[in-house]
Amino acid sequence: MAYNRDNIFAKILRGEILCDKVYEDNFAFAFNDINPQAPSHILVIPKGEYVSWADFSEDAPDELIAGFVRAVGKIAKAAGLEDDGYRLLANAGAHAHQEVPHLHIHIFGGRPLGPMLSGGA
Ligand code: 5GP
Repeated sequence: MAYNRDNIFAKILRGEILCDKVYEDNFAFAFNDINPQAPSHILVIPKGEYVSWADFSEDAPDELIAGFVRAVGKIAKAAGLEDDGYRLLANAGAHAHQEVPHLHIHIFGGRPLGPMLSGGA
């Protein structure tokens, strides 16, 4: 899928739409989810035009991939989630119900999170 610069996270990254920012560096930008599914629900997006893990892992420069992965770890730690644990999730495509076509990692934490998937096999 081609990257669409009008997606909502691209607008957040450009500062055209407000968000509750949590973290920013050269590689990543993070903000609280507008509709949190856990006491902590943070979205981390790479600074680049990538729809999902597929194009990010294939096309992004190594520096950006490393910086983005490191940022996710830092953000979870800074949110105080390491001791009790947390969950990372990245939806890709229709079966995963990806709503926003800019790669994002969800960080969930702050309570027991239950089984990994709903809906059965
Ligand atoms: P997806 O289903 O694509 O993995 O998740 C998209 C997430 O983005 C959802 O959890 C949704 O609540 C969140 N979201 C959608 N629009 C906005 C917005 O304008 N601001 C923020 N902070 N989160 C958003």
